[in-house]
Amino acid sequence: MSKEFYDRFECFINTITEMREVDLDKISGIVTPVCEVLGIARIEASFYDTPRDEAMGKGQHYLCYDTGEEYELAIHHRIVTEALRISDSSVFKAKGREWSVNERNRAESFSKIMMLAASRSALLQVAKRRTFYDDDNYKNLNYYMKNLETLGQQGKVIGNTAVLFNLKHFSLINQQIGRERGTVVMHGFIDSLSDKLGDKGLVCRMGGDNFIVIADSSMTYTITEHLKGTAIRYNDLGDRVMVSATAGVVVIDGSFEYHSPSDVMDRVISASQSARTGGQEDIVFFSSEMEKRREKIMRLQRVFPEALGNGEFLIYYQPKVEVTTGRIVGAEALCRWKHDGDIIKPDDFIPTFEQSLDICKLDFYMLDHVCADIRKWLDEGKQVVRVSVNLSRKHMMDIDLLDDLISIIDKHNVPHEYIEIELTETTTDVEFRDLKRVVSGLQKQGIYTSVDDFGIGYSSLNLLSEIPWNVIKIDKSLIPIGDDRSKKSVMFKYIISMAKELGLECISEGVETQEQVDYMLKNGCEIVQGFYFDKPLPQDKFIQRLMRGVYKQ
Ligand code: C2E
Ligand code: MG
Ligand code: MG
Repeated sequence: MSKEFYDRFECFINTITEMREVDLDKISGIVTPVCEVLGIARIEASFYDTPRDEAMGKGQHYLCYDTGEEYELAIHHRIVTEALRISDSSVFKAKGREWSVNERNRAESFSKIMMLAASRSALLQVAKRRTFYDDDNYKNLNYYMKNLETLGQQGKVIGNTAVLFNLKHFSLINQQIGRERGTVVMHGFIDSLSDKLGDKGLVCRMGGDNFIVIADSSMTYTITEHLKGTAIRYNDLGDRVMVSATAGVVVIDGSFEYHSPSDVMDRVISASQSARTGGQEDIVFFSSEMEKRREKIMRLQRVFPEALGNGEFLIYYQPKVEVTTGRIVGAEALCRWKHDGDIIKPDDFIPTFEQSLDICKLDFYMLDHVCADIRKWLDEGKQVVRVSVNLSRKHMMDIDLLDDLISIIDKHNVPHEYIEIELTETTTDVEFRDLKRVVSGLQKQGIYTSVDDFGIGYSSLNLLSEIPWNVIKIDKSLIPIGDDRSKKSVMFKYIISMAKELGLECISEGVETQEQVDYMLKNGCEIVQGFYFDKPLPQDKFIQRLMRGVYKQ
């Protein structure tokens, strides 16, 4: 072989292996001279109308020996066509003309080179698809992050809007029209948004029915209008379904301090969480108050582990009082956070900890300390009452919950009847089943359970009839006052009589006045918890209170 051949050949190999994708134009340009050197007469990089051509599909590129005649498939056709999926190249020879050994070897070398290059490029393509697309062919979060990163590197992030949205009631749509059509609807909704955005925006899927957009800020209105509700066709008959979404929106304007993609992501996630859980607006724009709240949440989450280790969380006890006698019949353990000399109330930190699983650690910490206190009081021969501990709904996902609770109580050797677990109502069927399992399990162990804050949220009769509670705690918002006295009175009376009929102990929370105490007595609610008797007290004050005996009326 001549030096010229080797030079060209090397150049060809280098070029082809550097290619990230098979670029037909480029290949033809390079392959033609190399083939000449290899002795392959010509390359036909075009359609070739033969029956075989039709059978193999259009758009093939053939490497041929000759033209104008009928062609036969030559060596390595299959390997080359399979490897070069998109270009489908084949090495042909003219019919009726035998190849010499030399020609055969050259053609073979050529097809091997093509095969190597093509399989590498095919692999790269597959890898690229896997990295940037999901199984349903939506661009994925990697694609989004890469795009955001590139915008950042080019200094073009400002002037865009990021939107994170979750399709509303999509499982219901799936149920109503079937999963397959549901998929069609989802594609329809996303494709039509992408069409509206054109080259001014990008829609990617984060997973499930969560999607994320980055678009020129001039498209913000278009996006939010689309998300508020768009009718999508799901069959040829023209049947349509209305699709809408909850969304968090971050307008990245001149005031935005952009350092990295996570600056956008953190904000858009927190806005979309407010939209999903806030219960008011479906579309929430990230604001400066939200920013402050986010900073506070991050600060609290950062210091939580240390605070827990330092014993900054204190247990306060609020007495539960039997109104007929003035006796203390129980207490609720309520958390206080002593931080930097201040006492922080639960409403300022519980919602934050509920965003992560920190709340579970805190609840176990509370139960552990309550049990230690009860053990100490028992050992000192003091009077002891049943103490209730609040448990966040976040625990419901934990399948070891029951065992963990029991092992904490038993570690302190506290008789089970001194412990009551307060749980709030649940919203989903799954949670309801878990709640039932947990309450029944506690019941079997002789541990009391109460449904907390009954009357706000989604109280249902199933909640009372299907779950074996011991106690129902009626929320303070249900205590009749002022104008709504008559309606609330009726509700209150019925709740009390229904609960009693079901054999449940009733407690009213938030009783503040003598008038309310009288009302409770008149309506058959004998146990109350409220500022009228005592606020939540530190441990020593609570013990003093217990030892002082009955409240004087
Ligand atoms: P909750 O479980 O419903 O507790 C009763 C709340 O009502 C307590 O608020 C208590 O101080 C307050 N309260 C009692 N009597 C009165 C009254 O007469 N008037 C008024 N206005 N309020 C009264 P607190 O201690 O601020 O706790 C608020 C909520 O934080 C609790 O509501 C509970 O949901 C949660 N929480 C407190 N400690 C814990 C805990 O250790 N774990 C969990 N998961 N949640 C906790
Ligand atoms: Mg409670
Ligand atoms: Mg309550």
